[in-house]
Amino acid sequence: MYLSKTDFREFLKCSKCLWLKKNDTDLYVPPLVTEFNQKLIDEGYEVEEYARQMFGEGTLVRGSNEEAAQDTKKLIDEKSSPIFQATFITDAGLLAKTDVLVYNEFSDAWTIYEIKSSTTIKTGRDENNIYDVAFQKLVMTELSIPVEQTYIIHLNKEYIKRGEIELSDLFTTTDVSELVEEKYEEVKSQADYALEFLGNKDINLSSCTCLYSSRRNHCSSFKVLNQEVPDYSIHDIARISSKALSGLVDSLIINISDIPDDFKLSPNQKVQVDLEKSQEPKIEIENIQKTLEELDYPLVFFDYETYVSAIPKVEGFSPHQHIPFQVSIHILDSDMKLNHYEYLADKIENAPFELIEFLHNTVPAHGTLVSWHASFENTRNKEIAKIYPKYKDFLLDLNERTFDLEKIFMKDYRHPGFKGKTSIKKVLPVLSPEFSYKDLEIQSGTEAMENWHRTIFEELEESERSQIQNSLLKYCELDTLAMVKIFKHLLKI
Ligand code: SF4
Repeated sequence: MYLSKTDFREFLKCSKCLWLKKNDTDLYVPPLVTEFNQKLIDEGYEVEEYARQMFGEGTLVRGSNEEAAQDTKKLIDEKSSPIFQATFITDAGLLAKTDVLVYNEFSDAWTIYEIKSSTTIKTGRDENNIYDVAFQKLVMTELSIPVEQTYIIHLNKEYIKRGEIELSDLFTTTDVSELVEEKYEEVKSQADYALEFLGNKDINLSSCTCLYSSRRNHCSSFKVLNQEVPDYSIHDIARISSKALSGLVDSLIINISDIPDDFKLSPNQKVQVDLEKSQEPKIEIENIQKTLEELDYPLVFFDYETYVSAIPKVEGFSPHQHIPFQVSIHILDSDMKLNHYEYLADKIENAPFELIEFLHNTVPAHGTLVSWHASFENTRNKEIAKIYPKYKDFLLDLNERTFDLEKIFMKDYRHPGFKGKTSIKKVLPVLSPEFSYKDLEIQSGTEAMENWHRTIFEELEESERSQIQNSLLKYCELDTLAMVKIFKHLLKI
């Protein structure tokens, strides 16, 4: 059993979770690998290939870990440079792959370049790039291969695509040698401990520290390890602090409805707890009425779907910037007549520009635009206004006229069925149970992005392409139709 850089990262997050994974117990529940995860992995390879071009001709090491380690040894002995994906395995079982390794004949030492598809160097709990590089240096040092300097190459978030990709502008190279040196001893002792810990035949599985963490920190094995915790528990209280969670867990309180009335919570958290206890919705009818009266007809319900790529694919766009490729619009007149309009790009190059032209030709000059979680659409409008100045006034005017329907559900319409959330996918089934996303081929914005990616970049049979496009249109249409349904429900009450 090897300890790779990814394993080490997982170990630092939770040693128990990695032990379960490595020891292949029934208690380990692998995380869901979606097509979106696969897209991120593929993008990582794409970024790596671009970055490698900055080093000229080199040798790419392939094959199984053991074969790759043998080939690397030969290349290192020959002082062949640069080496891509050099692989090292120590007798103790540490395994590291370096993205780029460059030999310096004057110092007779090697320089490590780690390539990241992010636009920053991450130093957080979930991912610490300095630890990643220190781990690689550790493995090479253990094999008596001198490492001189260490660099991280990452995407430059200020880069704007104009014509052919300019590698020197697309990437930022940062010398992290000192930071790596500072972390080196810590990484060495943690790696030793990880190997020892993973070698244990048994570990204590009776407790799980995630009992004291909110739901988003739990790994996919949480449910198996904590069978007494229901799917909706104190861990789901919005923005609950670890101090508050500790107070509750230590008092053996796991169900939201068991929280004492005098337990200290924020006003918003208190509402969430009260809803669960009473199982009664809390609706401020007068506030909602006042809000709805301020809207101007026709109402334009709209929703964007966007695509994100690490290497920018559209002129004027930057790495990881959202590219709107689809919009659905439902226009509701004051006499409740409803019309639907939609746009879906079939090429990436002009997608955002054509989408704006479609909006320009479709959205009436007057009336309120209605969106759910409007900051998303508003931010896209501001971004593309900078790229296409011809439509700047139009796009900023759309923002001025946009009302965020979600806001009503943050303050004036709370329901125990929403389980503390305000996303349209939580609200819709409670207010209109007959109306759901369940039967759709595409059920989320992430799936929409993945599927659109396939229609643009994969060679598909025409029938498959049009089937995916159909599913995309249905999904986006439902997003705006759902808003109309919810709006009509509010009118009724
Ligand atoms: S639920 Fe949390 S503490 Fe428990 S194994 Fe998973 S990550 Fe570790």
